[in-house]
Amino acid sequence: MSLAERLHRSPAGSPFVGADASDVPFAQLRPGFVADEARELPGAAAFDALLLELSAGFGRRHWWPAASPFEVAVGAILTQNTAWRNVELALANLRAVGALEPAVLLALPPSTEAAGQPKPGKPSSGPSSLEALIRPSGFFRTKATKLRALTTWWLAQPGGAEATLATRPLADLRPELLAIHGVGPETADSILCYAGGRPVAIVDAYTRRVLARHHLVPHAAKASYEELRAWLAARLAPDQLVREEFHALVVAAGYDNCKPTPNCATCPASDPDKL
Ligand code: SF4
Repeated sequence: MSLAERLHRSPAGSPFVGADASDVPFAQLRPGFVADEARELPGAAAFDALLLELSAGFGRRHWWPAASPFEVAVGAILTQNTAWRNVELALANLRAVGALEPAVLLALPPSTEAAGQPKPGKPSSGPSSLEALIRPSGFFRTKATKLRALTTWWLAQPGGAEATLATRPLADLRPELLAIHGVGPETADSILCYAGGRPVAIVDAYTRRVLARHHLVPHAAKASYEELRAWLAARLAPDQLVREEFHALVVAAGYDNCKPTPNCATCPASDPDKL
């Protein structure tokens, strides 16, 4: 699928990068989330039923909210250890100065010091620093360094980073992303799935919580990222819409219901302790 085919506006008008812009319920587009050949694997049927319940309840997610693959990648860094609403504030600051273009972002003064300290009692006349712009996302100093590392990689790709992400063999590309300062497995897989349109499985804190609470992977809280990624990859259909909707639905459940104290009574999924 070309990049142009992945840039959309949701029916509500919000830009997003994803496989399908329609509001057609997932269940009308695909038979389920689990691959046919995986249905006999432990937990596969229950996992599919859980995701179909979440999908029926939350509807199409139109995720990832971004107007370009670069914005996806920036958001994937900024969302580390913070809630998405804080990321939105930081993205709005970057958007306001045109810094959701990689060359513009990299040209920003990295820090307040580099931007020039204002004289006492006077506002700075120079451009805002990257650190100042992303401050709402928290950990702004380390995230500024990470963003600069990722953006340097982005601009160095012959033929463009979007083509690299969409076409390079994953066996080479994923380790290369993981070698960039600040890009861990969840960030790399988010970039590959949503910016690159690659059907990879993303593991995040909400995934661990849901898999554990539904007794699908009882030790999920302590399992390694790669162990959970392999569990998901063995079961989820290797289909781009499936991979995108799966992650977006788990995020929705985590935000709305599957909190440290779960609120199963209002969740679209069936309470695992009443099944
Ligand atoms: S809130 Fe309850 S029903 Fe919903 S996903 Fe979490 S454990 Fe499952």
